[in-house]
Amino acid sequence: MRKYVIIGVPGSGKSTQATTLAVDLDLVHISVGDIFRWQVQNHTKMGAQVRRIMAAGELVGDDLAEKVAADRLAEHDWNYGFVVDGFPRNARQAEFFLESYDIDGVIHLDMPDSEVRRRVLARRLCANCGVDYNLIQSRPATEGVCDVCGGNLITREDDTEEALVVRLREYHDKTDPVLDLFRRKEYVAVIDATASKEEIQQEIRDKLGLPPYKP
Ligand code: AMP
Repeated sequence: MRKYVIIGVPGSGKSTQATTLAVDLDLVHISVGDIFRWQVQNHTKMGAQVRRIMAAGELVGDDLAEKVAADRLAEHDWNYGFVVDGFPRNARQAEFFLESYDIDGVIHLDMPDSEVRRRVLARRLCANCGVDYNLIQSRPATEGVCDVCGGNLITREDDTEEALVVRLREYHDKTDPVLDLFRRKEYVAVIDATASKEEIQQEIRDKLGLPPYKP
């Protein structure tokens, strides 16, 4: 069983790296942000509750975020383990999480804020299958069209200059302390997130003692 948490500023590649780890090692990738985005896209009651908060770049309330994370983990479909992405995001969520789960390691994708803006504003997402693109690093073959499913590429509602300022502030105010807390209790692998996708994945594997990455 392998249980990891992945933490990093917006645009540091959490989802990309978590997906690769999960697919390769048979882990379940649990993204609280993806669950909220699904709720918004499907016009659910929860979606209506969180839409404006997310678009502004703020954090959703702890009760709801904790419920979403706990319900997802309670599905227990993770026979070989999980990678949790986007949770915990503040000290309260971290304490809640650590009360119920032992984790094997924390992956901290380290990226300076100066790099974030350039990357986040170039990010595109498939409206249909959710695959991430970046107009700087991983452009789709045809502009605006998903390579995988042919869906439309859209910009996340919170990938704007205004929301990004708030997201970075939220991150440094609330999520930096989570890293301090984890550092006292768990192994935190600090990874240089400015390297290439493949190099980052390999460094994660090396630092966590996992089988080598074969792209
Ligand atoms: P992400 O895709 O992880 O960047 O998350 C997108 C947005 O979902 C965040 O900016 C928050 O509004 C919300 N969100 C995701 N995870 C959490 C969490 N653990 N606590 C509160 N809000 C969250």
